[in-house]
Amino acid sequence: MKGFCRFLLDCIFPRECVSCGDLAGGRLVCSRCAGRIRSAAGAGRLPGPAVTPVISPFLTCDVLLDMIRFLKFEGGSAAAGWLGRRMSEALEPHVRRLGDPVLVPVPLHWTRLARRGYDQARLLASEVSRNTGIPLKGRALVRSRMTRPQSVLDRDARRGNIDGAFRLRRAGDLKGKDVVLVDDLVTTGETALACRRTLEAAGPSSFAVLCAGRKSAEKIKVERSEGLMFE
Ligand SMILES: [Zn+2]
Repeated sequence: MKGFCRFLLDCIFPRECVSCGDLAGGRLVCSRCAGRIRSAAGAGRLPGPAVTPVISPFLTCDVLLDMIRFLKFEGGSAAAGWLGRRMSEALEPHVRRLGDPVLVPVPLHWTRLARRGYDQARLLASEVSRNTGIPLKGRALVRSRMTRPQSVLDRDARRGNIDGAFRLRRAGDLKGKDVVLVDDLVTTGETALACRRTLEAAGPSSFAVLCAGRKSAEKIKVERSEGLMFE
């Protein structure tokens, strides 16, 4: 029986650390890698004149990137559950200030969804919705144009790549709501800003971003000056 339970656990949680490949004792990452994940103290904010908080449990690091990669490409529902719980905890203190919050995931283009079979932002938003009871508006925003991966582009090209890539589908659902946009990672914020510009037409009351990991402000500054950015 014990062996069978172990087998079931191995099916749900990988036996090896998703970052370094060492034995992880049924956890997503081994204790050494877990120790390298840094919590994000307080919220960041998107660039621009409008104040848009970026709420995340963690700062982006190699271990977190490996977890997101696992979630994206290997269908890691265990990673979605773990990250979703941490994101829900990070959102908790902000929820009290929001009157009528809704979760809107950053959508994938349908061709990419068909190829991958997994929409990581949608998965994370579903977990947060389940944990917090905040309604999920999974179809409020659609990606109407195929875009190149932001990670291969420099800063100016990123904005041109993503600008106008989204459109509203059920705008009436968002009028007067406190929209919490959900994505896996926020780096320069260009994707979130493009979503914000599109969502503004729906007349939401406020706008915030929730993600699993964000870059620290200092790191973004250095990478911008070097022309290196990741998303
Ligand atoms: Zn490890």
